[in-house]
This record gives sequence, C-alpha cells and structure tokens, in this order.
Amino acid sequence: MTTDTLFSKIVRGEIPADIVYQDDTVTAFRDIAPQAPVHILVIPNEPIATAADVEPRHEPVLGKLFTVARQIAESEGIAENGYRLIVNCKEHGGQEVPHLHLHLLGGRPLGRMLAHQD
Ligand code: AMP
Repeated sequence: MTTDTLFSKIVRGEIPADIVYQDDTVTAFRDIAPQAPVHILVIPNEPIATAADVEPRHEPVLGKLFTVARQIAESEGIAENGYRLIVNCKEHGGQEVPHLHLHLLGGRPLGRMLAHQD
C-alpha cells in the first residue's frame, strides 16, 4: 500500500502549486522555497516513498523524470549553462517529503556539490 502524500495532493490539484508540466505519469512544479532562480520538483504521479524503495517496475517512470527534467531545463533557459539534479533519500539525505522527487536547480553557478562541514 502506498501512503498519500503532500505531493499526491498537488498531483490531484487538491492543494495549489505552480505546475509547469503534467501528464499521466509525471508532474513538475516550482518549489515553494526555491534555493536557486530555477527550482522545480519533478515527481512520479504515483508515489514512491524514497530512492531506497525503487523497484524494477519503476524504471519507466524514473527514466521519464529525467526526460521531463531535460525538457523543463530547456524551456526555463538553463540547459546551455547547466544545472543540477538532486534526489534526497531519507533522514541523512535530507529528505522531507516521502514522495520521491527530482530537484531541478539552476539559473546561477551552484558551487560545490556539498557544503564543507568541520
Ligand atoms: P526534500 O527535502 O528533498 O524532501 O524536498 C522537499 C521540497 O519540497 C523542499 O525543497 C520544499 O521546499 C518543497 N515543498 C514543500 N512543500 C511544498 C509545496 N506545497 N509546494 C512546493 N514545494 C514544496
């Protein structure tokens, strides 16, 4: 059984979001707290809780997330200079919403992949 999530409600239009793309399998919307000029979340409409829960049956939709991210990067004008795709997984990965999502970030130089911590 899959649990309902905040992002499922966005997919169904039950809570508002700035949706930039939607089809039968994938939805993309602007992050409510953007960390870059472009910060869009690309998600499967059917929730997968975390990257640790992916199974072979999810491979088509996981591939679709990347194709949609590429298309949005082009339409947002960040494809040429480049961007970053991030999937956070569980507590140590910093995942807050248990509905697998691809962060598409760009529009400025993003620096190192991880901040240094002493
Ligand atoms: P993560 O920490 O990888 O689980 O990312 C969750 C992301 O969802 C964060 O960047 C939040 O800012 C974003 N977020 C949370 N609620 C909403 C919402 N209602 N609409 C859009 N983005 C959201």
